[in-house]
Amino acid sequence: MKLSRKEFLRAGAILSGGFFLNGNKIFSSIQAQQSGFKELRNNIGIFTERGGTIGWYATGDAVVVVDSQYPESAKNLLAGLQQKTSHKIDILFNTHHHGDHTSGNIFLKDYTEKIVAHENCKMLQEKNDKKDPAKPQAYADATFTNTWSDDLGKEKVSARYFGPAHTAGDSVIHFEEANIAHVGDLVFNQTFPFIDSNGGGSIKSWYETLGKVAKHYSKDTLFIFGHSISDEFLTVSMKDVLSMQKYLGALAEFVDSGIQKGKTKEEIAAAAEIPGFANLKERWQGARKINLEKAYDELAAK
Ligand SMILES: [Zn+2]
Repeated sequence: MKLSRKEFLRAGAILSGGFFLNGNKIFSSIQAQQSGFKELRNNIGIFTERGGTIGWYATGDAVVVVDSQYPESAKNLLAGLQQKTSHKIDILFNTHHHGDHTSGNIFLKDYTEKIVAHENCKMLQEKNDKKDPAKPQAYADATFTNTWSDDLGKEKVSARYFGPAHTAGDSVIHFEEANIAHVGDLVFNQTFPFIDSNGGGSIKSWYETLGKVAKHYSKDTLFIFGHSISDEFLTVSMKDVLSMQKYLGALAEFVDSGIQKGKTKEEIAAAAEIPGFANLKERWQGARKINLEKAYDELAAK
């Protein structure tokens, strides 16, 4: 790439002082450039920018959004949706309470008829936000215990709770006609997951919950995942749901056998790999070690 003198000077400013002064700004604009809308099928797609993957359904008759990331990225999401349709958002679902899935609620609420979430999702979001009361938040207007369902445009949209997993309030949002299911953070695809034990998450229960998810949906279901090792693996098939379940099983089994052998938490957490998952990648440093520690705490406590 050849740069003109003006471009060269601008690039220099970015790479030197300008970068450090405006580092965050530049970083977020780089993220914005790499992100955006991807349609999957039947007017349903994903939006990635910062935080958990957003799912959307946008037609002239109905608009549904699943998760809201942060206020800034929710703003970009809305701008993109408004290019597709002038229809208001009928329902914004939250798959669970974590900030990278709910912080954009505050921006989207003025453009949304109703925010819907599992009752534990709302409860945990409120509990979490008490720690930071200065930060404005918006919560679900309607909650459900087991299932929620609505006909919107050509779609039947259902939300379902299968039990504690990543948190105590994860639900799966299913676009039944298109057979696309947003599983939130029930699957961290090809990467070590975050296990929110303070938020009611549990490895053993997560394993069981994924078994129920696998049973409920079909091999033709296209799944949307909250996080993945890279953007190209944010939507895949049942085999990735099963692989995540297998990982949680292997993690529990490995740690349990260490406990049976009388190993300490430190010894177990120092393992270089979890059998069968040597290639699993860390999205943040120490992710494997934290998984092992969490598994120890959960299994040694019983
Ligand atoms: Zn999460």
